Amino acid sequence: MKAADIRSTFLNYFASKGHQIVASSPVVPGDDPTLLFTNAGMNQFKDVFLGFDKRPYTRATTAQKCIRAGGKHNDLENVGYTARHHTFFEMLGNFSFGDYFKQDAIRYAWELLTEVFKLPADKLWATVYAEDDEAYEIWTREIGLPAERVVRIGDNKGARYASDNFWMMGDTGPCGPCSEIFYDFGPGVAGGPPGSPDEDGDRFTEVWNNVFMQFNRRVDENGNYVMDLLPRPSVDTGMGLERLARVLQGVETNYDIDLFVNLMAAAKREVELAGGVEVDAKSPSLKAIADHIRACAFTVADGVVPSNEGRGYVLRRIARRAIRHGYKLGARAPFFYKLVEALTAEMGSAYPELVAKQRRVTEVLKQEEERFFLTIANGMEILESALAALGEGKVLDGDIAFKLHDTYGFPLDLTADVLRERNLSVDEAGFNAAMARQREQARAAGKFKMAQGLEYKGEPTHFHGYEKLMVEDAKVTAIYID
Ligand code: ATP
Ligand code: MG
Ligand code: MG
Ligand code: MG
Repeated sequence: MKAADIRSTFLNYFASKGHQIVASSPVVPGDDPTLLFTNAGMNQFKDVFLGFDKRPYTRATTAQKCIRAGGKHNDLENVGYTARHHTFFEMLGNFSFGDYFKQDAIRYAWELLTEVFKLPADKLWATVYAEDDEAYEIWTREIGLPAERVVRIGDNKGARYASDNFWMMGDTGPCGPCSEIFYDFGPGVAGGPPGSPDEDGDRFTEVWNNVFMQFNRRVDENGNYVMDLLPRPSVDTGMGLERLARVLQGVETNYDIDLFVNLMAAAKREVELAGGVEVDAKSPSLKAIADHIRACAFTVADGVVPSNEGRGYVLRRIARRAIRHGYKLGARAPFFYKLVEALTAEMGSAYPELVAKQRRVTEVLKQEEERFFLTIANGMEILESALAALGEGKVLDGDIAFKLHDTYGFPLDLTADVLRERNLSVDEAGFNAAMARQREQARAAGKFKMAQGLEYKGEPTHFHGYEKLMVEDAKVTAIYID
């Protein structure tokens, strides 16, 4: 089944169960400064869950454009290396606004997967929140899933990859216990079952999360997090379209599904044209490029331009990461922006904004790429010679990472991406110190000029984007676009 058919089958199934089909919202959340990018289908319904907004329906279903490249849900570093993570992906969801709850949600999910999509029931696993006996009983007694394949999982806060069956959109907002459905790709793929120490593999892949929205998490007057009960318990679910397609099409990774075939081929062709070296069709770098063109194109189509702060900076980081991967594969001239055409051909009918904005997206990405190509060769040379001088297990000097950032336009996570390929790391504290020093100097220079009565038009302009993006994930959701 093609991705386009999977998308429509999902929406039509829930429409047949009384759900209103609602269009995807933009990847840039309209009026939510706590969120960098739309990261789940529920985002556009946040106020409905909170009871602030009313809709003429109590059940909805969507295919939502999502980006997870910053903030609480940040998958940027996984992309290219796992079979299942993207920065941009489509999330299929069904929502109940105080209408049905756990029992119907689980029944719908099971019926759709096993009877409509005809997945073999014995390949499916479910997890429930450790304390959620109700969900556990529904899975084991009503659905009849054997107890060995129903796993209780607690809230594993802070663990980067470990399952966490308490879903939160960000540090604040609607949240609740969840029940996730996994597909077992079999012993040929590395990874253990959910809840096991090696669960972070591609064998047992989470396909669908059913969140039972019960709480609103907020900051109280004293600055502490508190959880209020929502007016009516609700349901929010999300299933990655690309992951379900991987299952249904029986292919090795998300990058082998029909939706990616042409894009991967276009990426290979353009990189080869820009460098004259043959590229391995399964290279992680090629996957990163094919992934990143989707994130970059959809982001620009929804109104963001590359810049040094906020959303524009996330866009820049993704674009530069893609370009660097192309450079690694041998590209020595702009190639990335050329992929907009293949992407529009592939996804333009589902997302007409790609067609409407194709020229602009191409132009914006071309400019960004041309600019970065002016410095990437010098930056890579500096990085290579610094790495050549590094001994085993040593850490790249923060001053060098800062110079790469400041002079050659290498965002810190780009440098980290290069280092990761060689099992090395970077001194982030040293990087931050170098950044702070430069800021101090800029400030002093500003004061000096003022004292001299030189032409001075306000505070020296320096941006805070890097600094903010470097704080730990949890805090990054609180970035406000300034
Ligand atoms: P994972 O544990 O695999 O990172 P998640 O638990 O973070 O996924 P949820 O927040 O539960 O994901 O999102 C709902 C669904 O969206 C997931 O079950 C998965 O199918 C899909 N999904 C989540 N993150 C990604 C991603 N980066 N790329 C593709 N699909 C994703
Ligand atoms: Mg995740
Ligand atoms: Mg998960
Ligand atoms: Mg999940």
